[in-house]
Amino acid sequence: MTMFWGRRGCGRITAALAATALAAGCATSQAAPGGSARPGARSDGSPQARPQGSQGAGSGPAGALPRPGEVGRIKAGALPPVISSIPTERKVVFLTIDDGWEQDPGFVRQVREQRIPITVFAMRQAVEAVGTPDRSGGQARFVGAGKWDYFRRLAEAGAPIENHTLTHPNLRLLGEAAQRQEICGASKVIRREIGARPVLFRPPFGNYNDATLRAAKACGMSAVLLWTATVQPGGKIAYQVPDKRLRPGDILLLHFRPNLERDFRILVNKIKRRGYELGDLQAYLKAAGVR
Ligand SMILES: [Zn+2]
Repeated sequence: MTMFWGRRGCGRITAALAATALAAGCATSQAAPGGSARPGARSDGSPQARPQGSQGAGSGPAGALPRPGEVGRIKAGALPPVISSIPTERKVVFLTIDDGWEQDPGFVRQVREQRIPITVFAMRQAVEAVGTPDRSGGQARFVGAGKWDYFRRLAEAGAPIENHTLTHPNLRLLGEAAQRQEICGASKVIRREIGARPVLFRPPFGNYNDATLRAAKACGMSAVLLWTATVQPGGKIAYQVPDKRLRPGDILLLHFRPNLERDFRILVNKIKRRGYELGDLQAYLKAAGVR
């Protein structure tokens, strides 16, 4: 069951969107088994969770919360589950954003002021602007502008900062020890810089193998999070299903690209026009039994 959710999403991505994913420098994420109570715990190694209702007046994300009995169970075995969509029939989708090259302050403002729930998968090289930025969104203006401080502001705005490796490798090409270095290393940096440790892991390009799951578990991840659709420059949704429609429980993948503020506005309006709500991913994962 666990693997069903994951493999389905991963296969679709690999088949249909490999080039896009590569060009975009995207990845996946994961959560840890046996974690303690997640909501609100943010200090000293506690798992991250969106601090619902604890933000200042008018600030912080306010995503749709699951209703009793709404969410199907995601079964976890010995290894963290691989999740590409949330099992629900409600018209709710989840926003995630990867890497961290372009650090437009307008985006943080949007997240805070409009209370948009979003989960961030930070990759150290991107955040620290080491290497070649993702140019797919056009002319960059804010590459590495705020470094980790930008992500601290996002965390303060209510966005959990999760794990997307140190250097964005294709994990399938690495042995288990090297994979563990990438994942545990990133968690260590995030805990140091943000003050809360990640519990979700997104593998770069959506590429993973059994060693990835073992490494993720060793690094305290409670789930590996993939996606069902990517968002391209201009707010265009690249679906992985032939009928090109959002589906309940979809997880959308964005990147920190130039023009993100504009693209994000277009995307959020589009989602709402189609009658979908933006969900609180952490609350839904918890309702699905992932913790
Ligand atoms: Zn990525």
